[in-house]
Amino acid sequence: MSKISPKAINCPFCNESQVANIYDSVNVTIDPSLKQKVLNGTLNDKNCDSCGKAINIISGLLYHDMTQKLMISLNTSDEPGITFDNKNPFLKMEGYIVREVKEYYDLIEKITIFDNGLNDEVLAALAEGFSSSLNEIVKDAKLYVFFDRIEKSLFKKKIVFKCFTHPSQMMELKQPISKLDKAQQSLLFNMDVLRN
Ligand SMILES: [Zn+2]
Repeated sequence: MSKISPKAINCPFCNESQVANIYDSVNVTIDPSLKQKVLNGTLNDKNCDSCGKAINIISGLLYHDMTQKLMISLNTSDEPGITFDNKNPFLKMEGYIVREVKEYYDLIEKITIFDNGLNDEVLAALAEGFSSSLNEIVKDAKLYVFFDRIEKSLFKKKIVFKCFTHPSQMMELKQPISKLDKAQQSLLFNMDVLRN
């Protein structure tokens, strides 16, 4: 079940205080229509009761996909207060993949990776490799590298990463899968090894 809590907010435009219904958890198996809202960041959107402008609210969230046996907690606070135990024996027994992320784009990345049936640990290691070699060049800005898609051409499959220091300057990095080492190639399309 998805869970909604009313929370007091102030409109960022007119400062009027009001109640917004914020999703604490989203079950995309029971409520499939919510998935697109998670992906485009509009889950908690509402129009201000006073000025009518659209208010976009990003808040911590537990994403639950029962079909894929996947739980991703978006914890935007600095507190370690995870909403569930990472080593929950029940989830482990059921073969769940459990993740916690800090940023909204990390949540989107994880959902995209698992929707593609990919292994997020392999991709994280590749992204980390790109990130550290590029940070040598881009010294004074933090560089973000995240998975975007698998590109399939006639002969080659490539992993496409998006990378940016600022979201307005998005670049793509393409990694041919044939150039990965043997271990990475065999694990990349296997997300089930993550369930143990
Ligand atoms: Zn307003």
